[in-house]
Amino acid sequence: MKNLDKMGINTKVVHAGQKADPATGAVSVPIYQSSTFKFNDADHGAACFSGESNGYKYTRLGNPTTAALEESINVLEGGCGAVAAATGMAAVNAVYLTMLSAGDHIVATDALYGPSRMILENEYSRFGVEATFVDSTNPQNVADAIQPNTKLVFIESPANPTLSLTDIEACAKIAHDAGAKLAIDNTFATPLLQQPLSLGADIVVHSMTKFINGHTDVVAGIVVVKDPAILKRMKQVHYNFGGTMDPHQAWLVLRGVRTLSLRVEKAQKNTLEICEFLLNHPKVEWVRYPGHPSHPQYELAQKQMSGGGAVMSFGVKGGLEAGKTVINNMQIPHLAVSLGGIESLIEHPASMTHTGIPKAERELAGITDDLVRIAVGCEDAKDLIDDLSQALDLI
Ligand SMILES: *Cc1c(COP(=O)(O)O)cnc(C)c1O
Repeated sequence: MKNLDKMGINTKVVHAGQKADPATGAVSVPIYQSSTFKFNDADHGAACFSGESNGYKYTRLGNPTTAALEESINVLEGGCGAVAAATGMAAVNAVYLTMLSAGDHIVATDALYGPSRMILENEYSRFGVEATFVDSTNPQNVADAIQPNTKLVFIESPANPTLSLTDIEACAKIAHDAGAKLAIDNTFATPLLQQPLSLGADIVVHSMTKFINGHTDVVAGIVVVKDPAILKRMKQVHYNFGGTMDPHQAWLVLRGVRTLSLRVEKAQKNTLEICEFLLNHPKVEWVRYPGHPSHPQYELAQKQMSGGGAVMSFGVKGGLEAGKTVINNMQIPHLAVSLGGIESLIEHPASMTHTGIPKAERELAGITDDLVRIAVGCEDAKDLIDDLSQALDLI
C-alpha cells in the first residue's frame, strides 16, 4: 500500500505486511507451507545464496508468510527490519546472542521476565557474559551499573508483574553515552501503546504469544531493530541457531495482529474500570496499573505510553492466603499464566511464573507474596467486576 508509513497506527495494524497474494489475489496472506524453494537455474541459486537476489532458499533462512509478519511488526515499531522467532524466549536469545560475547557485560532490569533473567544468570554466565540487575525505575541505577565492557542495556517496561516503568529515553542516552545499545521487551505495552525505537531504543523484543497474536493459541516472538548492521548480524546468528518461526505459526499471528487495536482498546477500557473498583475496595491493599493516576510513575506513563495496557497487579489484605482465595474463586478469568489474550487470566507470580528467582531477590524486585496479576481480556467489564467482588467477599 502506498504511503502506509504516513497513515495512522490502526491502518498499519490492519494493512502492514498484509498484501494480497500477487499470484492469486488472495486477500489473506497464503501459508507458504514449504521447507524449501526451487531455483530457476544454478545462477539464480547462487544469487539467492550470495544475497544478490532476495529469493527464498530454505524456510529456516526465510519464508514468505513469516516475512509478511516481520514486515507487519516492523512497520508498527518503525524499525529497519524484524526477525521472527519460534517463541518470545527465542527472540530474547537472538538479542543476547547477537549483542554479547565472552567478556561482555549487560545491565538489565531486575524485574525482567523470569526466564530472560534466569538465562543470563545460569546459562550466559557459563560463556563468560557478566550481568548486573538493577532497579531501572531509577535511571541513575542503570548509569551506576555501567562498566567499560557494557555492551547492552536490556529493560522491560512495563515490567512483569510489577507494572513498574523504566524511562526509555533516559536509558537510551545512558547506553549510548557508554557506547552500548538499548534493547527493550515491549510485550506488555504492544507497539500500539509504546514505540521505543522512536524514543531512542535500538532493539525491541516481543513475545507475540501475548497481545500481538492475542488468541491464546500460539507461542511466538519477534525482534525489531533500527540499525541494518545489527539486523544483518542478527539474521546470521538467529538463522544458524535455528529458533526461527514456522509459516503456519506466522499465519496465525498475522490473523491475530489484524485485530490488535480493537482488542487492546477494549481490554484497556476494562482494566481501567477494574482498577477503579479495586482501588475503592476495603479488602484491597494496593493496586498497580500504569493507566491510572494512582501509579507512582503515572507521569512517565503519560510521557512514553499512549495508554496503560491491559495488565494490572494488586495485593489483598491478608497476603498470600487471601490472594489464593481470590484466585481460586474467580469464575471468569482462568487461573493460568500468560496474558494479552481475548480472555482474562489471573495468576500468582510468587508461586508460578517467578518461582525460579530466590524469594529475597523477588521481594527486592517488588514481586511480593501477596501480588496477584490479572491480565484483563475483552469480556464485559461489569461481569469481571461482579466476579472480583464475589471472590473478594470470600476473604
Ligand atoms: C511471555 C513473555 C516472554 C517470553 O515469551 P514466550 O513466547 O513465552 O517465549 C518474554 N517477555 C515477556 C514480557 C513475556 O510476557
